[in-house]
Amino acid sequence: MYIELVKYPDVFLRFVSKDVPFPLDDKTSRLIKWMEKAMYQHHGIGLAAIQVGYQLRMFVMDCTRSQENPQVFINPVIVKNSEETLTDFEGCLSAPGKRGEVKRYLRITLKYQDKEGEEHTKTFYNLEARCIQHEMDHLEGKLCIDYEKGEYSRDKHKSQTMVESDFRVKSDT
Ligand SMILES: [Zn+2]
Repeated sequence: MYIELVKYPDVFLRFVSKDVPFPLDDKTSRLIKWMEKAMYQHHGIGLAAIQVGYQLRMFVMDCTRSQENPQVFINPVIVKNSEETLTDFEGCLSAPGKRGEVKRYLRITLKYQDKEGEEHTKTFYNLEARCIQHEMDHLEGKLCIDYEKGEYSRDKHKSQTMVESDFRVKSDT
């Protein structure tokens, strides 16, 4: 079945997500499967919970495009980053046809929990590092299209037209 994503300019994408409590309940476990399915269905390499209508601090990622190795990151925090950055264009499944020019760290170290609540600290490079920083922005209600010439722009964020979210209503029925 087709999974609908929350799309720009829906104001829901601007909400700050909340910590995921452990142990995971059945609903959250099912949501993770659902997010993986949505990511593959829409041919993305990463997807945050907010993009399928849940204000939770977690995202899935698979930069291999093999659709065989989805990773889930719950309550993630970037604890270290490289000095080196790279500015490049990024797209987002929630903003089809648009792109932003975003400066990202080439290397980041992420602390996160897995499905069992186990804590991990791992370093990621290049595309994975960029993807994680993109998803981390989603947890704060930021989008790659808010960036201008590499830098985050509050003004651009504010100027983006917002519409009331009707996603929740639709997805509950
Ligand atoms: Zn995105």
